[in-house]
Amino acid sequence: MLKRRQFLHSLIAAPWLLRASNLYAQATNGLPGLRIKDIKVIATSPRRGYSWVFIKVYTNEPGLHGVGSANYRYLCWAVKAALEKHMIPFWIGKDADRIEDMWQSTHVRSYWRNGPITNVVQAAIDSALWDIKGKRAGLPVYELLGGKVRDAVPLYAHGGGSDFEACATSVQKWFDNGFRHVRVQMGGYGGGGFIAPGMGSRPETGFNGKAFDEELYVKTIPELFQHIRDQVGWEVKLLHDVHEHLTPSGALELAKRLEQVKMFFVEDILPPEQIDYFKQIRALTSTPMAMGELFTHPHEWRPLIANRLIDFIRCRVGMIGGITQAKKIAALCEQFGVRTAWQEGGENDPINQLIAYHVDMTIPSFGIQEENDFPEHVYEMMPGAARIRKGYLYGSDTPGLGIDIDEKIAARFPLHDDYRNADWTTVRGMDGSVVKP
Ligand code: MG
Repeated sequence: MLKRRQFLHSLIAAPWLLRASNLYAQATNGLPGLRIKDIKVIATSPRRGYSWVFIKVYTNEPGLHGVGSANYRYLCWAVKAALEKHMIPFWIGKDADRIEDMWQSTHVRSYWRNGPITNVVQAAIDSALWDIKGKRAGLPVYELLGGKVRDAVPLYAHGGGSDFEACATSVQKWFDNGFRHVRVQMGGYGGGGFIAPGMGSRPETGFNGKAFDEELYVKTIPELFQHIRDQVGWEVKLLHDVHEHLTPSGALELAKRLEQVKMFFVEDILPPEQIDYFKQIRALTSTPMAMGELFTHPHEWRPLIANRLIDFIRCRVGMIGGITQAKKIAALCEQFGVRTAWQEGGENDPINQLIAYHVDMTIPSFGIQEENDFPEHVYEMMPGAARIRKGYLYGSDTPGLGIDIDEKIAARFPLHDDYRNADWTTVRGMDGSVVKP
């Protein structure tokens, strides 16, 4: 009773003190300390392109568990081994309530840090602990992160086609379906800049396939977007992903030529190795820049944000260490007027989509979220997965992340690395040399 009175008094005296931590303390008052008791790895490939490695973290509280994703399609077996052989033995027995402490100790656990494998593994335990904390408090994770600042998460759609006309039709279709933002690619990444196999001036022997040509791309893409503006109008917000294909001078030229069609953003106009050139691009064009899909290290995003050289940060939440890191980046963005546009590739999974969702719901620096949806049997396998309706993402609003994994269904689709026989990241120029993908 005394505690209750003190609590009520604190509300009257200082209502601003009623923060997420108070809600959690209130909900868990009198409960025993929470320990990680066991961690199960669930590795599953429910569709081509999906190489998902999840964890279920069990606690000493009966029935209380959390889920996380260590999704890294291209090195999925290495991630699984990193979890099973190295990290799970380190995590078992630790205090499940101390999310930040777990983040920090996991971050330095393998001494060398900020790589994609260490980051996704770190995101997995981070997600599971946020899930557990939310379930224990009886609150969705976004409540623990400060509560909603928006009602749902706006998404951009993926439009495109093989020619100008098909691209314009696709944009109109998405716009009519409620998406105000549409990213447009003409064919695959670099589309509009390819010379057909066997065509043009080639070396006598060697590569004779589809070849990327920078000048062709820089000429074609502004014409494509002008055509879309002419056909669809100016209400739709247009996005485009360069996917790093350009040299610095090509990037600058493209950004300048796209000014006339008023892009919402142009994404990854340069590879991460050339981020210093954003200073020149910023000084010479008003085309908004989104950057950072491949970023894994603070030294990559920090200078671009702190020097106001980009408009949107594009990291994948699972690839930078999860909710704990994403909230910090979002706070940094807020200080410098940069917005978020978390990456959500087609091979990503419903847990990673939800960790982005919970962050998106709580950050004033939010800009846009990438659309990603799943086949119906994945929604069955992962009850509570977020749903997309008319351009917005909606979480399940149940406590924690709001999602679980049906292990029986997951077991029907054993982990498979189908990327071994694919190679979309190798793009070549006319002379056969590799272009950034
Ligand atoms: Mg991208």
